Amino acid sequence: MGRTKNTKIRFEGADEDEVAEEVATCSNVDEAIRDESMCDAGNGADADDVTDDITSADYYFDSYSHFGIHEEMLKDVVRTKTYQNVIYQNKFLFKDKIVLDVGAGTGILSLFCAKAGARHVYAVECSHMADMAKEIVETNGFSDVITVLKGKVEEIELPTPKVDVIISEWMGYFLVFENMLETVLYARNKWLVDGGIVLPDKASLYITAIEDSEYKEDKIEFWNKVYGFDMRCIKKKAIMEPLVDTVNQNQIVTDSKLLKTMDISKMSSQEASFTAPFKLVAQRNDYIHALVAYFDVSFTNCHKLMGFSTGPKSRATHWKQTVLYLEDVLTICEGETINGSMTVTPNKKNPRDVDIKLNYSLDGKHCKVSRTQHYKMH
Ligand code: SAH
Repeated sequence: MGRTKNTKIRFEGADEDEVAEEVATCSNVDEAIRDESMCDAGNGADADDVTDDITSADYYFDSYSHFGIHEEMLKDVVRTKTYQNVIYQNKFLFKDKIVLDVGAGTGILSLFCAKAGARHVYAVECSHMADMAKEIVETNGFSDVITVLKGKVEEIELPTPKVDVIISEWMGYFLVFENMLETVLYARNKWLVDGGIVLPDKASLYITAIEDSEYKEDKIEFWNKVYGFDMRCIKKKAIMEPLVDTVNQNQIVTDSKLLKTMDISKMSSQEASFTAPFKLVAQRNDYIHALVAYFDVSFTNCHKLMGFSTGPKSRATHWKQTVLYLEDVLTICEGETINGSMTVTPNKKNPRDVDIKLNYSLDGKHCKVSRTQHYKMH
């Protein structure tokens, strides 16, 4: 797998060397990748040539064009079933309504909405998967209800002035990675009718702390001495990269705290950047190697509150959890508190990347530490 192995923007089905060769002519490869990674590679391919003529380099720029990533999302039953239940069990939200599906992928959410009785669904998708979505809509007999529009939400013309419902599955790793929330807010501001609804409408980010000596040894301390050589310069880089992985709930040492709730129906895009304080209280004597972030989303407009969590105590999803390794090992006693704050901002150069600043301190019986660490999700 390529450089984006830990991310939902994934590079599937292409040989790494081949891609390296093909992109080698770009003067600023990083920027090019980031600009195009979520959307059309801009090669002007139309419906007829897409499936056969997409090269490995296109997939590198446009991972959502390949079915592999959609397969992973569709097979994430926590994710997909929750959306299905929200739609099928709350038909009153959709009956005779105009719906906008932001980032429709295979069109699955649009199909759910059409089946639930929507008057019309506009399915907007910028990757080549839009061509598949069109075919899927036709094959399943929904062409009169669902219109698939291929293009960026920010660039397409919607054939209706307003919509009643916006539905989207925009969440990235660590909730905000990929910055697709910005696209949802753009659509909301432009097309949502007064009193219209956004699904989901709440998203919350949480933090907890874990014992993780084994993995930290393997991934971070490994670089201290590699076949007898000091490679600690790489260790500095490794510790800055949040790791997307599932955490065993037995590893959890402290309670969990809410960092931030976003109200998708009201918030401004500036609110996706924030600083939030936290206090984590140890529930046993242990050693802490990392903090762990995860999110939940909820659909508060349902007849009964619905949603799902990506936390370590819930059924695993493809988002897993996000692990931030600490430079220090914290020897913590039951009842002691880690005080800290987390600042989350989109990277200035590449807004799809996320910069995270973490302050933490422990004034414990066996351990006194105060430190600031910087992380970057890319
Ligand atoms: N709704 C589908 C896919 C979710 S993944 C499902 O639930 O299975 C998010 C999708 O949004 C991807 O297919 C991606 O290509 C698309 N997307 C991201 N940014 C977009 C934008 N600005 N305009 C249109 N589509 C976008």
